[in-house]
Amino acid sequence: MTAPRLDDSLVPLLHEVFGYSAFRGAQQEIVEHVCADGDALVLMPTGGGKSLCYQVPAIARHRAGRGLTVVVSPLIALMHDQVGALEEAGVNAAYLNSSLTFDEAQRIEREMMSGRLVMLYAAPERLTTPRFLSQLDSLYERGLLSLFAIDEAHCVSQWGHDFRVDYLGLNVLHERFANVPRIALTATADDLTRADIIERLQLEQASVFISSFDRPNIRYAIVEKDNARAQLRRFILDEHTGDAGIVYCQSRKKVEETAAWLNGEGISALAYHAGLDAGVRRDHQDRFLREDGIVMVATIAFGMGIDKPDVRFVAHLDLPKSVEGYYQETGRGGRDGNPATAWLAYGLQDVVQQRKMAETSDGDAAHRRRLGQNLDAMLALCETVECRRTQLLAYFGQPGTAACGNCDTCTSPPRTWDGTVPAQKFLSAIVRLAQRRQRYGAGHVIDILLGTTNARIESLDHTSLTVFGIGADLDATQWRGIVRQLLAQRLLAVGTDGYGTLELTDDSAAVLRGERAVWLRTEAPRTARRSGTGSSRKAKATDVPLDSPGEALFEQLRAWRGETAKAAGLPAYVIFHDATLRQIASVRPTTSDELSGISGLGAAKLEKYGDAVLAITAA
Ligand code: ADP
Ligand code: ZN
Repeated sequence: MTAPRLDDSLVPLLHEVFGYSAFRGAQQEIVEHVCADGDALVLMPTGGGKSLCYQVPAIARHRAGRGLTVVVSPLIALMHDQVGALEEAGVNAAYLNSSLTFDEAQRIEREMMSGRLVMLYAAPERLTTPRFLSQLDSLYERGLLSLFAIDEAHCVSQWGHDFRVDYLGLNVLHERFANVPRIALTATADDLTRADIIERLQLEQASVFISSFDRPNIRYAIVEKDNARAQLRRFILDEHTGDAGIVYCQSRKKVEETAAWLNGEGISALAYHAGLDAGVRRDHQDRFLREDGIVMVATIAFGMGIDKPDVRFVAHLDLPKSVEGYYQETGRGGRDGNPATAWLAYGLQDVVQQRKMAETSDGDAAHRRRLGQNLDAMLALCETVECRRTQLLAYFGQPGTAACGNCDTCTSPPRTWDGTVPAQKFLSAIVRLAQRRQRYGAGHVIDILLGTTNARIESLDHTSLTVFGIGADLDATQWRGIVRQLLAQRLLAVGTDGYGTLELTDDSAAVLRGERAVWLRTEAPRTARRSGTGSSRKAKATDVPLDSPGEALFEQLRAWRGETAKAAGLPAYVIFHDATLRQIASVRPTTSDELSGISGLGAAKLEKYGDAVLAITAA
C-alpha cells in the first residue's frame, strides 16, 4: 500500500476539526508516527491530551481512504460522551455496546461496513467476539481497516491496579490484522506494568512515547487522620466550597454513609459503587457530569475514563493500595489545567488494615510480595518529609526533580526527630508480651505503655509487665503516629492471624540493640499548615481575566450552553469548555471570522453554534 502523504495536513486538520492552533507536547510526533503506519505506546498523564493522539490520525487516515479506526475502551458507560464530543466536532463516530437497541446496533454496523464511519468505540469483550472479528476481516480485506487504538492499556497488566481479563484477548488484533497499526495509551504505568503491556499486546516493535508524569496544577496534601469526617468537611469548606470533587472510600457502606453525612452538612453529594442499581449509578454519574458542584463519593470503581475536565478536588478517606492507584485516582482532578487538590487522610488503622490484607491475600507468594511492595511505596510517599511531587515523579522513573512548592511538604515542611527511644519502648513491649506467648493489636500495647488501668489490662495482669507505664511521656495520638511509622518502615509487622496483632520483623532487633536509629516525622503544627492554603485557593488566576461586562457575558454564554447541552443530552463541556467561553467573553467577536480564531472552536461548531454565539456577543 503506498501511503498518501498525511502529515502536511495535520495541523490544519487539528484546527479545522478541534479548533486548536497547535499540538501539545509529544502529540505531533505521535500523530505523525501513527499516520505513517507506526505502532505506538503512549504514556501520558491524565489531561495530557491522549485522545487527540489517536483521533487526529483516525480522521487523517480516513480522509486518505484508509477506513475505520477501532477504539478499544473499557467502560461502555463513558463511550456516549466521547462519541458525542466527536459528533459535535463533525466527525462520523459511533459506539457499539449493550446499551443500544437491536436496530441502532444494526444501523451502526451498516455504517461501519460501508466504510463511512471514521471511529468506532467498543469494549474489548465485544471486539473479540467471532461475529465482530469476521466483520473486521471483511473490512481488512477491502483495505478499510485503518487503525486500532487501545485506550487505558494498563488494564492488560495483572500488575496494574485495574486489571481486566477481557484485555488479554486483544493480542488477537495483532495476530489477525498484522498490517494494521496499533496505538496503545495509558496514564499510568511503572516499569513492570509497561513491560507487561508491551509483552501482552505484542508491542515489541512499537515506539514508546513517555511524557512527563508531572501534573503541576495538582496540589498534593496528605494529612494524618484524626477525625476524618471533620477533616474532610474542613478541607471542602476551606478550599473547595461549591466545587465538583470526588471522595474515594474503600467500602460500599462507607461510600453511602459518607455521602449521606456530607448532604447533612449541606454539601451536595452522591454515592457511586458497583453494588448500586445500574440505573441509579447512571443517574448519579450523569448528574455529576452535567450539574455544577456535585461531590461524588465513590469506590475506585468510579472514575476511570471520566472526562469531566473541571473536577477541582479528589479526596481519599482510605489509603490507596499503590502509588499507581493514587496517581491515577488523583489524576482525575484538574484535567482542564486549572488548580486542583489531591487530598488524602490516613492513619494507623489504614496501615494495619492494608498490611493485613497484603499478608493474607489470595494468590501466590510473589503476588503477596508485590502487594507488600506496592504498599511500601505508598507509605513511603505518605511519610516522606521531602516534596511529594519529587517523590511521585521518582517513582514513575523521573528522579531528581526540584521541590515543587505546590504540595503540603513544600509549603509547610514537617520536622523530623530521633524516635529511637520510643521505638525501643514499643518494640520491648512486643518482646515482653511474646515472652508470655501473647500478641496484641496497637491499641492494647499503647494502653500498656501509657500505664492505663482498665478491666482488661488488670485481668490479663499486664500491670506487672516491666514496660507498663514507661511511655506515659507521650499521649495516645503520638503513640499511634509512632506505631504507624514503625509499620511503614517495616520495623514492625502485622501478624497473619487476621486480628491485626503486631510482631517484630528482622530489622527490629537492630533497633532494640541500639544499633539503628529511628527517624520519625512530626506533623507541622496545624495553624502553620493552614496558612499554606492562601496560595492554593481555587485560583481563577490561570483563566482569562474578565472585566465585569465580560463576566456578565460569560454568564450569558454559560446559560446558553446549559440549555444547548440539555437539549442535546450532552454534558456542557462537550459543547464548549469554560476556557473557550471565557475567551469569547473576553474577545467579544462580532464576525464569524473573529470567532474562528477562538481556541476550541472547530469548523463544525462554528457552523452549528456560530450564529447563536454571535447573537449573544453582539447583543
Ligand atoms: P487525556 O485523555 O490524556 O486525559 P484529553 O485527551 O481528555 O486528555 O485532553 C485533555 C484536555 O486537553 C481536553 O480538554 C482537550 O480538549 C485538551 N487538549 C488536548 N490537546 C490539546 C491541544 N493540542 N490544544 C489545546 N487543547 C488540547
Ligand atoms: Zn512539593
